[in-house]
Amino acid sequence: MKNKILVYDKNKETLEFLRRFFRRRDDYSATFIKDKKTLLKTLKKDPNVIVSSPDVFEKIKPEDIKCPVIAMVSGNITIGIHSVMKSDIEHYLVRPFYKEDFEYKLKTALRKKGLLENIYGEKKDLETVLELIYLISSTLDPKEALYFVVSKIAEIINVTRCSIVSIPFEEKRHAYVISTFEDPKIANIKLDLKKYPEIRKALSSRKPVVIRDALKDPLLKKIRHHIAPIGIRSIVVIPIIFRNEVIGTLFLRTSKSSYIFTEREIRLCSAIANSSANSLYNAFLHEKIETEKSQFEKLAITDYLTGLHNIRYFYHRIDEEISRAQRYKLHLSCLMIDIDHFKKVNDNYGHRAGDIVLGEFAQLLKKHTRKSDVLARYGGEEFIMLLPQTSIEAAVSKAETIKNFIKKHRFRGIKDKNGLTVSIGISSFPARTIKNKEDIITAADNALYKAKADGRNRTVLYNSPL
Ligand code: GH3
Ligand code: MG
Ligand code: MG
Repeated sequence: MKNKILVYDKNKETLEFLRRFFRRRDDYSATFIKDKKTLLKTLKKDPNVIVSSPDVFEKIKPEDIKCPVIAMVSGNITIGIHSVMKSDIEHYLVRPFYKEDFEYKLKTALRKKGLLENIYGEKKDLETVLELIYLISSTLDPKEALYFVVSKIAEIINVTRCSIVSIPFEEKRHAYVISTFEDPKIANIKLDLKKYPEIRKALSSRKPVVIRDALKDPLLKKIRHHIAPIGIRSIVVIPIIFRNEVIGTLFLRTSKSSYIFTEREIRLCSAIANSSANSLYNAFLHEKIETEKSQFEKLAITDYLTGLHNIRYFYHRIDEEISRAQRYKLHLSCLMIDIDHFKKVNDNYGHRAGDIVLGEFAQLLKKHTRKSDVLARYGGEEFIMLLPQTSIEAAVSKAETIKNFIKKHRFRGIKDKNGLTVSIGISSFPARTIKNKEDIITAADNALYKAKADGRNRTVLYNSPL
């Protein structure tokens, strides 16, 4: 890129010198300005250096000059130097001077501008990282913290897509987009790493991967057909490392053909990646704890052997169902189901075989249970079923169905051709003697006792003469 030089001078000899100098140089592009008004306008075009007679700066505000100035002092030297001092111009040359003098001044001025730009740029980047660290530490929600990261990057860098991809510890074949600035509500989009060689490379090299042109880079050869239609042009993947382990990546993509990530932007993103490592790790932990919590909750209400709900869950649900039935005057029925002579199964085939039969029995019951019904293992070989909005007649019919399909079913662990039978006690709300949950359970239990006493393989309604 050529350095843009703005030239303004009235002195003929100086002008002649400058024209000759710049004519031979193709690393500079010099614009010669004839009047002060045009000079003021051209200042806005961001030149790299201004070469000018000093007097003109006395009338320009210092904040309008954003680049170094080389003043050419000619004519009355004293007035010229005085003007240089007054305008606080750093570089000046007094006629006559050598071409080499001018060249040296020009180079020094340009080098200084480059250095200053770097310092200001890095100061700005540092401020960005500090602001981000402040934002991250202001929230306890790790996902929100990660969203701050992606939206900040999208604000300062000209990206089309910017995401944080997490890499779970236990598997390295998939990654999950857990934050993306395009959509704050995004949740765990699964990526097959086979389709993302650039992420794989960042994981193995643990260094930023920069793809300047996605349509040409050999790394993306195999997936070119996949990314070409989306219009992705350049890609940057920066690993996020926590305690020596790559736990994720920043994943930036742009679709603008002219835009290429600069070294400084990549350095800035690496710093941001470092500061977001903690949040990403916390997001992992948070997710893990949430999963474990829901697993524990599930375990606490699940019967270990059959996978059905346990009695704790049943008691919780019966409270709800009975109050609903009372409030809205709805029916609520209950079936107490007990396998007949189950002891014999254990005696004949062993306790382990008995367990398997119980599991199969539970699955059979579950298959015949509606979503709104509550089925639980009451204990041993006894099961309980709560049937909301089910009348006595419907409950009796349901009990009969259960009794019949159990009788017909051939259990894998039972060789005896007679298979299994069940006895079922039935109770139903509302009824004169059934006022609360204890009543409805006791009534079903009593009815079951009666079914056993009457010879088993039968259903008995609680208000039958006991
Ligand atoms: P009834 O027709 O009177 O119900 O006879 P039953 O043998 O089924 O009833 P009883 O109450 O005399 O015995 C219940 C049996 O169920 C005895 C017990 O070992 C068995 N049992 C209870 N829980 C389990 C279990 O988790 N696994 C196995 N294999 N057997 C169990
Ligand atoms: Mg039994
Ligand atoms: Mg029993």
